[in-house]
Amino acid sequence: MPSNTATHTVTLMPGDGIGPEVMQATCRVLEAAGAPLRWERCEAGAEVFKKGLATGVPQETLDSIARNRVALKGPLETPVGYGEKSANVTLRKLFELYGNVRPCRELPGIQAVFAGRQIDLVVVRENVEDLYAGIEHMQTPGVAQCLKLITRKGCEKIVRLAFELARAEGRRKVTCATKSNIMKKTEGLLKSTFEELARDYPELQTEHVIIDNLAHQLVRWPEQYDVIVTTNMNGDIISDLTSGLTGGLGLAPSANIGNEVAMFEAVHGSAPNIAGKDVANPTALLLSAVMLLRHLGLFDVADKVEHAIIVTLEEGRHLTVDLVGDDRAATCTQFTETVIANLGRRSPHWTTHQYRPIRLPRVDPRPDLVHARSRRVIGADLFIESGLDPHALGESLDRIVTALPLRLKMISNRGTKVYPGPRQITDCVDHHRCRFVMRDESRELSDHDLAVLVERVGAEHRWMHLEKLQVFNGEPGFTKAQGED
Ligand code: NAP
Repeated sequence: MPSNTATHTVTLMPGDGIGPEVMQATCRVLEAAGAPLRWERCEAGAEVFKKGLATGVPQETLDSIARNRVALKGPLETPVGYGEKSANVTLRKLFELYGNVRPCRELPGIQAVFAGRQIDLVVVRENVEDLYAGIEHMQTPGVAQCLKLITRKGCEKIVRLAFELARAEGRRKVTCATKSNIMKKTEGLLKSTFEELARDYPELQTEHVIIDNLAHQLVRWPEQYDVIVTTNMNGDIISDLTSGLTGGLGLAPSANIGNEVAMFEAVHGSAPNIAGKDVANPTALLLSAVMLLRHLGLFDVADKVEHAIIVTLEEGRHLTVDLVGDDRAATCTQFTETVIANLGRRSPHWTTHQYRPIRLPRVDPRPDLVHARSRRVIGADLFIESGLDPHALGESLDRIVTALPLRLKMISNRGTKVYPGPRQITDCVDHHRCRFVMRDESRELSDHDLAVLVERVGAEHRWMHLEKLQVFNGEPGFTKAQGED
């Protein structure tokens, strides 16, 4: 954690749409508050894409972030027809910003559905893995696949970050939200890691909740939550929901945390419909800057800026259009000047958390973090593209492997077993998972057995994907199909 006496150099990316307006407002407030920051202005986003750089982030910007290790970012757009990947995702991945931290706290003077319920929670979302690893394939012309990658290392980092954040902010409870009842291996890995690591934080209350129930609970009794840790896709959706609970996108800040670099930004995007009109609400980016100041250990100046924002909202005289509607709305500039005028004032109704520096988790950097005491390959799933009825395909495969050490155990279609057994009403597609296991269960499957299987089956059917069935420490490393015994 950097010291809080020196001037800190921070990479600043104004971004697109309303980005430059809310960034200018934020810089003005921070300067007036006396924050010891020096900005290094860098480009990223739409203009960079349009210059022909497919990542949307020039090397100079990456060098600046790597040097300064702290960045404040406006929203970035990927213009239609340029760049395949979002510049935001690129930044998160390149700097291993594994934790997306989104606080959601009731703010005074805001007409939100839950006003008065004292919502004060933080969503800690895993930020680089899961379906967002972006590994997608068209497996047949009509069947798409996206790999959901969840790692023990990724789970350990995000779970520890959530626990450490709870400790640093003096919070009491951490809730782990997953879909482990359905995705036992992937979502289940976050749950089991959470349950194991909870032992290292005995002073914190812990609980697990299924993500769909969390969504339900959040829109009924949101005040029961304190810190919520979850996987990338769940967190993406849930944290937008929580932004809505306390007044919307104009107010929602976030931090992207990595062990080397941290990047702070508003949750909202570039809002092109209101860009250039001086009407955007800069509060979300201002509160993100408050998080940045705390990250740098600048707790006093962070409190000063936070209280000035709170007093401005409480007084409610110069609020932006998203908060008060057209009739009595202030411009972004007027709101900003009011915040500046309120610097040094404190709201008697606002209690600041007892922020301390977060101890960032140091997880063993070895790629092969987890070792099994024993492992065996007992079979393989061969994925076949075929327009045949499952029974016709099954009988064909049974015949092909008659003389091989493998037998066909079952075929599933879209996750449901369709062969052998009675005909199902499953609406089959041309994508079959054909599960082969060793006839002699005492023998392990060899690569040679697999090569022969693929060659024989491939001579009659089109296959596109092969997955070994492995058993680690006596536990199957694969799930069964619906209906499989
Ligand atoms: P958005 O930019 O967040 O805007 C959605 C709506 O929310 C706006 O039209 C506006 O509503 C309101 N809004 C958002 N921020 C506001 C603020 N500070 N003050 C007042 N009102 C605000 O979402 P989007 O339209 O889906 O996305 C636009 C672009 O931003 C897309 O290119 C997207 O990819 C990008 N984006 C970037 C990031 C990022 O950089 N992290 C995040 C999200 C989206 P009204 O119509 O009521 O004025």
